[in-house]
Amino acid sequence: MNTFAPFLFIFVGALFSSSAGADELRLSRSELRALGLKPVLNNRASGNIAYAEPARGTEWPIVFKSQAASIAQNYVQHQDYGTGQYYHGGCDLRTEPYSAARAPIAGKLEAGYYGYETASDGQDTKWWKPWDGKPTASLYFEIAVIDEAGYRYEMHHVNPLTLPSDIVALLNADLTKPGTAKVEAGRILAYVAKWPSEYDHVHFNLIRPDGLHMNPERYSVPVSDHEAPRIIGVYSVDAKGKVGELREGGRLPVGIRELVVATTESRDGNEYVQTPPYVFLIFSTGEKAGWDFRNWLGDATGKWVDIRNFFRDEIRTPSRKTIRNTGNYGVGQFLIRVPVPAGAAGSFRLSVGDTAGNLAEMTGILGSR
Ligand SMILES: [Zn+2]
Repeated sequence: MNTFAPFLFIFVGALFSSSAGADELRLSRSELRALGLKPVLNNRASGNIAYAEPARGTEWPIVFKSQAASIAQNYVQHQDYGTGQYYHGGCDLRTEPYSAARAPIAGKLEAGYYGYETASDGQDTKWWKPWDGKPTASLYFEIAVIDEAGYRYEMHHVNPLTLPSDIVALLNADLTKPGTAKVEAGRILAYVAKWPSEYDHVHFNLIRPDGLHMNPERYSVPVSDHEAPRIIGVYSVDAKGKVGELREGGRLPVGIRELVVATTESRDGNEYVQTPPYVFLIFSTGEKAGWDFRNWLGDATGKWVDIRNFFRDEIRTPSRKTIRNTGNYGVGQFLIRVPVPAGAAGSFRLSVGDTAGNLAEMTGILGSR
């Protein structure tokens, strides 16, 4: 495996041992504590709280490298760098190393070192060590702008050692008068770190005040996308775990518990794949089930969706092929689980969609009706 060599190099003697080289820093509680980080309150999706929507059409914080290298991973993207699976949470924005990261919006400035503790349902607790005026080298440094409504725009993988002097002055002044560091939209906040593997990027999160991850693509300047997601295969799974395959217009026997959709999503001319944020099974009788992450990473009320209910690790197809769910650094394909509503039967439509509104569809019939 040619991707393994650089990882091995980083592992040797690295402070962040098992997670070094991973897109985000995920460690155990004791490892996070040893780095001087502390857990942040209110950073887990709480659900069912009314907030005004974030501003639309905000500028991306960086200039994309090219049309082929723009958004490498979206915020739903499945990730597993050996420390457990998680949703990516933000967008990886491909850009040149050492280039500027700018404020996407006006607001309060914050900076610090971060890490995550990930539960088995894929939900994170964020750990944090705020700026203290004495920057140290780290790939996991964040500069953030918090707007008037409390939405937090986080830029990760910027270099803490090369911050512009006016930003350092603002952050230092904020240490004595907290909450006073403010920036206008478009201000240069930091410069992009040189990434040790794969690709140079800023990982960009948009977080609601209660911790819910919003879809940065929904609220930023749209990236050209006229490409529908790809449906690579659709598999049915019954109560005993028996796997069948659905072809366009095909019929499935009663007793199917769920469909598993092998799929990828991308955008015009982009060289990476992403996880489609919308997958729904809709019967002509009205029953439906599925996932809609086009606005935020949660269910309709903003509650967390257990990652094990959304992704399936692997599936063995009737033609005895094993397909795995992989997506690190924008390479792979995804296996998304869609439950069949109890009692549903007859003709149905499976829709897989992206943030821009492009849809791929497959139809079928469940049972003899
Ligand atoms: Zn990332």
